[in-house]
Formats: sequence, C-alpha cells, structure tokens
Amino acid sequence: MLEAYLSRHDRLYDGVVYGLYGTETTFALAAAIAKLEHGHQTVITSSGTAAIALSLAAFLKEGDHALVIDTAYRSTRRFCDEVLTGYGVEISYFDPGIGAGVEALLRPNTRMVFLEAPGSMTFEIPDVRAITQVTRRHGVITALDNTWATPLFFRPIEHGVDISIAAATKYLSGHSDVMLGAMTAANADVYTRIKDMAARWGNIASPDDCYLVHRGLRTLDVRLERHQRNALELAQWFDQQPEVRRVLYPALPSDPAHRIWLRDFTGASGLFGVLLEPLSPSQSAAFFNGLRLFRLGSSWGGFESLLVPAWPPPARSCLPVDDGTLIRVHAGLEASPDLIGDLDDAFRRLRAISHQKDA
Ligand SMILES: *Cc1c(COP(=O)(O)O)cnc(C)c1O
Repeated sequence: MLEAYLSRHDRLYDGVVYGLYGTETTFALAAAIAKLEHGHQTVITSSGTAAIALSLAAFLKEGDHALVIDTAYRSTRRFCDEVLTGYGVEISYFDPGIGAGVEALLRPNTRMVFLEAPGSMTFEIPDVRAITQVTRRHGVITALDNTWATPLFFRPIEHGVDISIAAATKYLSGHSDVMLGAMTAANADVYTRIKDMAARWGNIASPDDCYLVHRGLRTLDVRLERHQRNALELAQWFDQQPEVRRVLYPALPSDPAHRIWLRDFTGASGLFGVLLEPLSPSQSAAFFNGLRLFRLGSSWGGFESLLVPAWPPPARSCLPVDDGTLIRVHAGLEASPDLIGDLDDAFRRLRAISHQKDA
C-alpha cells in the first residue's frame, strides 16, 4: 500500500494518480482516439479551444516565433494575437498554399508551425506533407487542427505532424451536448510535454463528458458517411443556384483544393462554405428567417443541419477576402430532399425580396 502510494508518479502518464491527470474513463477515451489517429497517445482537454491553446503553449516561450496558417479558426488566431504575443512570442501568418515555401519563412527562433486542414470558413487545404518535410528537417514542431476531417478521413500524424488536434465537441461526440478537446501526440516526447502542460494549467475534462464522447465514437463511421453524402448533395445543389458564386467544398471537382484532398484525405465531412453574390440586409433576413430544418448555430458536427452567416468576414492577414456574402453550411443527418426543400424556400424568399423595389 505504502509503496504503491509513494511510486504513484511512475504512473503519471498512463495510470490513475490524481484526478487532474485523468481517470480510467479519461484513459479509455484517450486510448481510443490515439488508435484512430495512429498516434502515440492522446491528452483529453476541456474543449477544442483548450487543446489548441495548450498545444501552442507547450512549445512556445518568450523570444520564440510561431508560423500560423492564415485560415486558422478564429479562437486560434485570438489566442496567438491576444495571449501568446503578450507572453513575448512572435506570431506570423502564412498563405495556406505555400507548401515547401514555408522554409523561406522560418527564422532562427521559429519553434512551431500551426496548421488547420481545411481552413476555417474558406476550406483551403495546405500541402501538409510538403510543410512537414521542411519542419522536420529544421526541428520545428507542427500541430494541425483536424476537427473537420476527423481521423477517419485524415491522419495528420501519418503526414509528419507532431500533434493532431480535435475539437471532440464536434463530430467525435456528434450529439451537440458536450464540449471536449483532444491532442494526439506522434511520439512519447511530445506526449509527455503536452500532458504536463495540461496538468500545469489545470485542464481536465470530466469523466461524464469523456464517456459521452467515447459513446459517440461508436457511431462516428456511419454518421460521417451520412454527413458526407448529404453535404455533397447540398453542395452540388447550391452550385446550381444563380446567386451562388462558388461553393467551398474540397470534395467538389471544381474546388481548388480538390486535387490535394483526393491525394491526402479519404473523405469529406459535412461542413462547407457557400459564397453568394453580395446580399442586402433585407435579403439576408429573408434568407435566414423562415428556415424550418436548418438552425442558426456555430457549433457544428452534431446530428442537426446548421447555417451561419459568415460576417463580419473571417480574419485574414495574407489572403484576400471576397466581397461576396459567405455563409457556412453544416449538413446534418436529416433526409437530404427535406434539407434541399428548406433551402429552396430560402432562395425563393430571397428572390421575392430582390424583385421588390428598394424601400
Ligand atoms: C469548434 C472548433 C474548435 C474549438 O472547439 P471547442 O470545443 O468549441 O472549444 C477548434 N477548431 C475548429 C476547427 C473548430 O471547428
């Protein structure tokens, strides 16, 4: 008894020591996610945002430089701009299309490259392999936010990434009723570092939340299949509407990211963007107000279909922002003809407004 207590820290990274380091439930979920990601081991956090913040904080200190993809999730950019820079870390943003050109952006103090694939709101896909070939050669740590694809459709660690991040709040849980994050490490060194960092910041998810996400994993495969099929049908339908300039979905052959998506991904999930001709406020109101099946909500990845207006437009430092009206669509698990009917009505309301004289 005494010996087991005194040696408890030997089990710090893979056993029950103290609640802050995880419980049997936490470890069961971590092991399942690590297996899906083909990684060494996973650290569970209280949210996807926490997983992003802790991954960055684990490797960056005062005087360091980090390169962050220009299409990163808004909270990722805010953590970099509002927290890391305050701690004396230099941040610069880069074009997702840069590929091996990332080498020219490395500075002597560059410690980390942060990626997201595809990009938030605009869905560009970086050439992860070309980037990690550079970062590995220079001993720079690479993290990637893999929330969109999930490890079922993309395995960042197999493409040279050191930390694969998931907002398990989204597809891994799948039922819009829990918040949780996961950081999966490619090797033992990265794992101990992020595990220590989560403990130092006191970040832990409750066992009940871990249980819900673990249960969600059991249907991830069939859910994603349906999300993918619905999203493809909706994307193709949007593509036919005269008000639509462009559909931003890598699974469409017309998408600029299609080639790289085909090479690296084994599927596309339910989230995509639609760029419309610029809408007036009254046209927007007509479009969104009156939806029956689609709901307005930010946290996608659950069973239900969602639409969100993407304005103000996503923050970008390198890429131009189109003057069209961008909306983001999440194709849920409903029957696609019903979803298309709801959207068809929304476009009808929009057209009715367009034909009225400006009041
Ligand atoms: C939602 C989301 C996050 C943040 O996850 P939370 O669990 O909501 O904190 C991070 N990255 C991406 C791509 C997301 O969609």
